[in-house]
Amino acid sequence: MEFDLDKQQREDLLRHLQNKMEDYYSETGKLDVTPGLDPGQIRAFVDKADFNKANNLEESLDFVIEGMQRYTVQCSHPKYFGLFNPRANFSGIMADYITANMNPQLAAWSHSPFANEVESRLIQDFGLKFGYKTGSIDGVFAAGGAEANLTAILCALDYTFPDYAANGLMGMSKRPIIYCSEQAHHSINKAAKIVGLGYMSVRGIAVNKELKIDVGILQKQIEKDLADGGKPFMLIGTAGTTGSGEIDDLPLLKQIAIRHNLWFHVDAAWGGGAILSKKLKPLLKGIEESDSITFDAHKWMSVPMGTSLLITSHKEILARTFRVTTEYMPKEASAMDVTDPYTHSIQWSRRFIGLRVYLSLLFYGWEGYEEVIDHQTRMGNLLREKLLRNKWSILNKSPLPLVCFSDESYKDDHNFTLTILQNILDSGKSWISVYPINKIPAFRVCITNYNTSEKDLDELVDELNAERENYIPFRSDEISCAAD
Ligand SMILES: *Cc1c(COP(=O)(O)O)cnc(C)c1O
Repeated sequence: MEFDLDKQQREDLLRHLQNKMEDYYSETGKLDVTPGLDPGQIRAFVDKADFNKANNLEESLDFVIEGMQRYTVQCSHPKYFGLFNPRANFSGIMADYITANMNPQLAAWSHSPFANEVESRLIQDFGLKFGYKTGSIDGVFAAGGAEANLTAILCALDYTFPDYAANGLMGMSKRPIIYCSEQAHHSINKAAKIVGLGYMSVRGIAVNKELKIDVGILQKQIEKDLADGGKPFMLIGTAGTTGSGEIDDLPLLKQIAIRHNLWFHVDAAWGGGAILSKKLKPLLKGIEESDSITFDAHKWMSVPMGTSLLITSHKEILARTFRVTTEYMPKEASAMDVTDPYTHSIQWSRRFIGLRVYLSLLFYGWEGYEEVIDHQTRMGNLLREKLLRNKWSILNKSPLPLVCFSDESYKDDHNFTLTILQNILDSGKSWISVYPINKIPAFRVCITNYNTSEKDLDELVDELNAERENYIPFRSDEISCAAD
């Protein structure tokens, strides 16, 4: 067999695949949103693949698709109310097809000038959207928010400690300290471990009643750390916390950052999408004054996984943080007014991930995005209304389409939420999660899918109501009776 396959085979396979994928894409809502989670069964399925021979091509495709359909949480389902994982839009899917075909290498500008200029333009466009000033913007595409946050921490270290690139933490006499809310994403703790600071260098500051970083406690902690001989260097605000979608008071955080000379990073991995809507944009006020921003296009912009941006308002900092020189890399870039991505980022070989965003903007324009973001926000508001009407209480205050709620009458019965959650997941009809709000377990429902409609919300509320109706509270006196 030709390693390339022949033209007829390629055409037949693609047609076959396209038919299957079209069924999936247009009928996702008919699948169970949750898979079976029996590891033994799934491993047995995976192990059925025989690599000791070449297999039938169509059957191979069918086998893989069947595995994916059976054993995956269907994030593309309109009733996946999940962890910011979107249904991938069609332009993003096509972008991946083009990229996989041509397989450009983006490490050096001269190998992929088109792709690199596309990503540079997007960095500038998004920098401007977030309110950075022309001429000050730089950035880089990253595989996810975790990598973008890690990149931001490296920039902050290099900015504050000019000796960091040469001597790392070994050159420091004081412990560098990062501040963020206790509701911030755990990728910050992980990044602190990766850069060698350790998570003891991250201060997760308590939140106030609104679930935003408590600025009074933050102030006191900074002063205490200074008195104890620490070196505060970075403050991270979250714009859209993962748990409850809350946005820290960014202008106030900026003032504190200025007072103590801290790099001010805003983690807007999901919530950053609000910048694309005229109605929501005011919620992000203050982000324009940040030193860097994490924004995941693979969340609210609905492009396939692995698409994040780290944007900074310090034009020089990425180059200062990441520049290395090698003999074997092409050198054209230094002679021209262009940037080699490998001198700006953690990655070396790079995939063309920016195409997912570029092609999506070509397909839908900023306006198309504003429409779907406003639609999802409307669905979030509708859900809040429906829940209140059905005697559920809303526990978070976020205006973004992420709703945390419970039933007050069961607030001391932690089994209530977990039992209902399990029943809903087992039913395969909806995917939701549980997140504690002020220590009370709450259902967490996020509108992550641009196709989620009012009908889907009605079904979800019906499912929740029915589960509440059927719930049998656990009574401790029954146990003591049984024990007598
Ligand atoms: C999702 C998320 C991250 C992590 O991003 P990944 O793309 O999953 O790596 C970081 N911060 C916040 C606030 C997030 O919501």
